[in-house]
Amino acid sequence: MKEYTYIMIKPDGVRMGLTEEIIKRIHSKGFEIKLFDVRKLDGEILDEHYAHIKDKPFYPTMKEFMLSDYVVPMIVYGENAVQGMRDLMGPTKSSEAPVGTIRGDYGNKEVINENVIHGSDSRENALIEIERFFNLKLNHGEDIIF
Ligand code: ATP
Ligand code: MG
Repeated sequence: MKEYTYIMIKPDGVRMGLTEEIIKRIHSKGFEIKLFDVRKLDGEILDEHYAHIKDKPFYPTMKEFMLSDYVVPMIVYGENAVQGMRDLMGPTKSSEAPVGTIRGDYGNKEVINENVIHGSDSRENALIEIERFFNLKLNHGEDIIF
């Protein structure tokens, strides 16, 4: 079934000039990019987005990193897009990510939080994150956003 996911190229990916390469990889998987933007985030939206790790000791460093430069938020759409994008990205720790995945090819093997890209971990979280980052109010019972 076709579905939406929320993807965000992190500051390290933008700084390394990987935006075009990542877009190419998303398209070559057969996914569409419905909307994208280039912007700097504020601390408030990050605290919401990372509520599940906000109390971890590494969060302050990670927050500083996420605020350090532009990010590229995107709405990606396609068949099993949530899991498909997670497969394309590779696991959280770039040191454990296989060659051929985005994190395996470009992530920082020493610094865990510098892992190039974010992707939603479920269809429901994808809709919540799309609402949060694109300032939309969605009907979660309906599949069509655009
Ligand atoms: P993301 O949500 O960014 O797609 P994820 O779902 O693979 O990644 P989460 O557990 O949601 O991983 O953690 C969110 C982010 O927090 C990770 O992508 C990474 O940047 C950072 N992070 C997670 N664990 C650690 C850690 N132990 N040390 C440093 N940073 C971490
Ligand atoms: Mg996550």
